[in-house]
Parts: sequence; C-alpha cells; structure tokens
Amino acid sequence: MRSARLVTILLFLATSSTAVAATKAIKFGKLVDGTGRVLTNAVVIVEDDRVRSVASGNVAIPSGAEVIDLSRYTGIPGLIDAHTHITYYWDGNTIPRYEPPRHPAVTAFLAQENAQKALEAGVTTIRNLNSLDGIDLAMRDLINMGKMIGPRMFVSGLGIRITRSTAPPAPIGIMADGVDAVIHAVRQVIASGADWVKMYGSTGGFDDVTQAQTFTYEEMKAAVDATHALGKKIAIHSYGPGGARDAVRAGTDSLEHATDMDDQTIAEMVKRKTYYLPTIDHNQYYVENADTVYHFPPGAKERLLDYIQRNFATAKKAFQAGAHMIVGSDAVYNGWGLNMRELDWFVKMGMTPEQALKAATTEPAAMLDMEKSLGAVAPGFYADIVAVEGDPLANITAVSRRENIRWVLKAGRVVVDKTTR
Ligand SMILES: [Zn+2]
Repeated sequence: MRSARLVTILLFLATSSTAVAATKAIKFGKLVDGTGRVLTNAVVIVEDDRVRSVASGNVAIPSGAEVIDLSRYTGIPGLIDAHTHITYYWDGNTIPRYEPPRHPAVTAFLAQENAQKALEAGVTTIRNLNSLDGIDLAMRDLINMGKMIGPRMFVSGLGIRITRSTAPPAPIGIMADGVDAVIHAVRQVIASGADWVKMYGSTGGFDDVTQAQTFTYEEMKAAVDATHALGKKIAIHSYGPGGARDAVRAGTDSLEHATDMDDQTIAEMVKRKTYYLPTIDHNQYYVENADTVYHFPPGAKERLLDYIQRNFATAKKAFQAGAHMIVGSDAVYNGWGLNMRELDWFVKMGMTPEQALKAATTEPAAMLDMEKSLGAVAPGFYADIVAVEGDPLANITAVSRRENIRWVLKAGRVVVDKTTR
C-alpha cells in the first residue's frame, strides 16, 4: 500500500515537471503584438498552448523554462488566411482539377503538404471554404487532436451551388434550387459539423471570370437566415456585382471576390460591417501558372489580367469607403505557401503595413468570433507566434514573402524553424 502511494506521488511529480518543461520564454528584438503595441527586447512567456505574459526588457524567466532566443527577428501574431482550399492538392505532374480520382483519406493525407506550406508562410489559422467528402472536417479534427500538423481550421464542408450544366470536371458542392432546398442544404452542411456555410452566388473560378449571378436574393436571404438561426456564419462567393449586391443585402457575414461592385453596395457593406475578401492575388497566381501548370485555353491570361485590374480597383474603393477588408488567398494546388502575397495588394491600395497586418490577424479573428484567443500575442491568447526577418511595419514584404518567415509557433508548439539556415 505504502509503495503504491509513493508511486502515485512520484507519478504526480513527474507529470507536474512535464508541465513546467512546457513553459517557453521567447525573446524577440521587436514584437508587433497585434493589439497596437510594439515592444523592443520583448519576452513572451508561453505555457502549454497559451501565452502567459508579454513584457519587454529584463524579465524574470520562470525556472525550468526553455529559452528561445529570436532577438534577431521581429515577432508577430500567427497569421490568418480566411479563404483557402486546402484539399486542392497537386502532385506536380497531373493537370490540377483533372487529377485521377482519389479516396478521401488519400486526399486528406496528401493535403498535409498544403498544411505544411501554410505554416511555412506563417499561417497558423485558415478558414477553408468548400471541400469534398468531409475531408476538411477530418483535417480540422485531426489537427485539433494534435495528430496532424497544420494550421487551425475553420471549415465549410461542401459549398452550396445552383443546379447548372458545366463542362467537366463537375463542380464540388451541394446543388440546391429554391428557398426550401437552400434551407435544407444549409442545415445539412451545419449538421455535418461545419463551422461556416459557403454559398456560390455567382459563376466564376479558375480561368472563368464570368460574373453571372446564380442564387436569387430570396435564396441568399433564406441561406443567411437558416445559417444564423443555427448560430453559424455564412460566406457568399460572387465574382460579379449582382450576386454581391444581393449577398450584402441578404446579410452575408463575408463576401468573397466581388469585383465591379457599385457604390451603393459598398456603402451598404460598410454600414452592415460585412467582411470583404477581394482575393486579388489568386488570379495573379493563375496568370503565372496558366501555361505551365493549368494549361488554360488561349485568351484566359488576358481575361484574368483584366479581371485583376477591376478587382483591385473595386477593393481600393471599398477600403477607402471604410469596408472591413480581410486577407484571403483562395490558395489552391501550388498556390499554397504564397498565402500572404495578398498583403502586397492591400498595401498597394493604400493601407499602411500595420493596417494590412490587421487584415490578416485581428480582423479575421473577430470575423471568426475568436478575437479573445487569436490574432494577437497577448496573455490568454493561443501561443501562435511568427518570427520574421525584417520590420513588417516598415515593409510588408517581411511577412508577404515566405522566405522571410523564419520560425512559427502554433499553440505553443514549434512547427517551423529556419533560424539556423
Ligand atoms: Zn475560393
């Protein structure tokens, strides 16, 4: 009996010393903490998956803490990419979207490469919008269990589309027509365990830059109301102005792409505090890969370049009007790793680097209802911290170029370390 009690005590001590070892003291030359503060000679104390304290100068290091010296770098909060497609995996040989059919478990396994590339771009959280067969749900859960390494995921499962004939490959999604069918589809998506609902309010995607509205205002309104009734949020895709106008009027929580919006729609979006993700850079990425990777038909590049200009002009107008701008890469296939290039466009449209950084940290954290745990390096927040080369407040390329991302901590765990290179 006595020895059994001793073993219990020893076990308890062993467990508690493990907990102490999970304390980290991380030093940064400079820390942009996401709450508006910039600290020099910062020391961040991390305990398990959370930040315990943030201070500068001479700070008492808890005994037994692992000291990580990143004083050569600037620390920033883990970045949030609020529009991704993590299950769109490219093997480097086949033509994306025309790859051979794969079992969902195979895709989930392969998509870990995209997850790793996201982390290497400093992205510790994504909102993933549209995925087949619950693969995004499975990846989210595996990552939360600590069994798969990747960014924290908020997912939509299958996107909701209208029925329409398209050239192969068949679009991924639930086909729904009419108010009742849309409500049913929304409830199915949420019942499957999705965090968000994704709806396609217009045509357009990849080399297709058409902007025709698909769902009607009534259908969008039904989707928004059914989503909100179940305590979730909805993202509506619209390449064009018609779908965007009705999505905003219907009360969508976020609006994706939305080129050529009129002033009235922009004003309405500002009034309603609709989050706007222009996803400008993804078409630039398509242009760069049009011939070598995607084998788009002739004329596609010209159409994409024209769309980019209008997309940028619309986003600039919305920013100047006071819209809530959010960084979304729309990353697919070999676009993974380029997730934060969108920041360059945000600065180009007139944001300060600080404002642009907020569009990838505190603003999307609020959109995800995670403003008390994500988007800042602050006590009680998840210990999602990125060390970058350079000063992001002077030049955003310190964040937007993946080669400047040197070290990434996600929920207290080092997931990228390129400090010794
Ligand atoms: Zn997308």
